[in-house]
Amino acid sequence: MARRALISVSDKTGVVDFARALSARGWELLSTGGTHAALESAGLRVTAVSDVTGFPEMLGGRVKTLHPAVHGGILARRESGHLGELAGQGFSTIDLVCVNLYPFRETVARGAPDPEVIENIDIGGPAMIRSAAKNHAGVLVLVDPADYALALQDEVSAADRRRLAAKAYRHTSEYDAAITAYLDGTSDELPTALPEHFSLDLTRAAQVRYGENPHQPGAIYRWGAARGPVIDARVVAGKPMSFNNYADADAAWALCAALAEQEAQTGQVACVAVKHANPCGVALADDVKTAWEHARDADTLSVFGGVVAVSAPVDLGAAQAMRGTFLEVLIAPEVTPEAAAWFAEKKPDLRVLVAAQSRNVSVLDVRPLTGGFAVQERDARPWDDLCPETVTRREPTPEEWFDLRFAWAVVKYARSNAVVLAKNGVTVGLGAGAVSRIWAAERAVANAGEAARGAVLASEAFFPFDDVVRLAASAGVTAILQPGGAKRDPEVIAACNDLGLSMVFTGSRHFRH
Ligand code: 5GP
Repeated sequence: MARRALISVSDKTGVVDFARALSARGWELLSTGGTHAALESAGLRVTAVSDVTGFPEMLGGRVKTLHPAVHGGILARRESGHLGELAGQGFSTIDLVCVNLYPFRETVARGAPDPEVIENIDIGGPAMIRSAAKNHAGVLVLVDPADYALALQDEVSAADRRRLAAKAYRHTSEYDAAITAYLDGTSDELPTALPEHFSLDLTRAAQVRYGENPHQPGAIYRWGAARGPVIDARVVAGKPMSFNNYADADAAWALCAALAEQEAQTGQVACVAVKHANPCGVALADDVKTAWEHARDADTLSVFGGVVAVSAPVDLGAAQAMRGTFLEVLIAPEVTPEAAAWFAEKKPDLRVLVAAQSRNVSVLDVRPLTGGFAVQERDARPWDDLCPETVTRREPTPEEWFDLRFAWAVVKYARSNAVVLAKNGVTVGLGAGAVSRIWAAERAVANAGEAARGAVLASEAFFPFDDVVRLAASAGVTAILQPGGAKRDPEVIAACNDLGLSMVFTGSRHFRH
């Protein structure tokens, strides 16, 4: 029997082409009112869900798909017991659910009256998404037109089905969060809800001798009741913090904390060395001392005068391993009393900080403009939010996947254009703040030297040409991660295939200008 796809979408982008492609591959299409009309008028053969349920859509669309013929078809395990029960009722399986929800957020954003907003709370859509995601072993669930192409492959792997299921639950939970915020009278819609007027509640958090240069007065302020890991850090040893120390320590800690969170399951310790707010050596290891040694050895030149963050307590052994390197700041979640005493005696200039627990921190990212500032929500997207897709014939090995994920975290925290080379959880080459992507790549490859052999490469934005691929391959890089989405992607992918590289698209860009 033909596989059946249920398509019920408010955002009809790409749906006609997708449905046509499914139909050409022998799928039977089921659809709700508006989607049905759109597909039918494009000349496709579609069965109305009301013909499957035997009930008309009712209550003005409030009840369309809430019926055992739909939910049984989605939720039945693909084994004889459930399938027999389903057949006993005269129902058939539904193998693909493609749903996006009533435009609740958009309705709120355009200031619609309350009854219209309430009517735009989708009920049947989330129910189908949740059913399909629960039964992802047997059902494909699609909530994003970007995933339509994946669903058209002959075989979708179990891992991809699970990723789509996770994405589906994220989608419904964010949708519910938006409804909750509306009913509570708050808003979770930061990008559209940035207010017309900010009232700046700022208090001075610290005095510094001067700003970035001695002729510039400077100070450190806090927003409202916020507590920050660096501005509220406990200084356990060393000289007073400078303006640049604050900025660099904040950058180092942000990447270090993001890596620690990303690697929570592997339990690896992160060490991040930063120069001028850019990472210069980053490493994951089983303990602080090893992580530090690897981060330092990643680029022994640049770490000189650097700022270092580590994600686990610093003990005496780790402290002593820092003996030979001139550092400005060290920040850690804890520093043992022996280590603090050792630093105070042996490295009296090094500022040693114990990071504070953050509280009420702003999720905004502010950039100065003459006469104002540009403000946006922070780029806090985690790896788990992505659906990375291998676009080459060769799939990365598990070791390459590990390094790609690590390199992706690092490249997000480097200034654009940025290219990171990594191997075995250590950066081996970094090119950041370059005004062209190939220059960033050249810098990273030159930094790495022989260590580029067997390394992976991550780029925070797409490749306009295949030049980075060719450079990387000639240096010995074996796998590349980038957002994808460039006009010349086909050329870039073909170059990887020719040269035996694997390439992963994340679909997510991370400019940091
Ligand atoms: P259509 O344009 O096809 O008539 O409607 C598509 C929308 O209806 C989708 O956004 C889908 O999530 C939603 N939907 C599907 N079934 C139901 C249901 O039983 N109740 C409600 N309230 N919405 C549904």
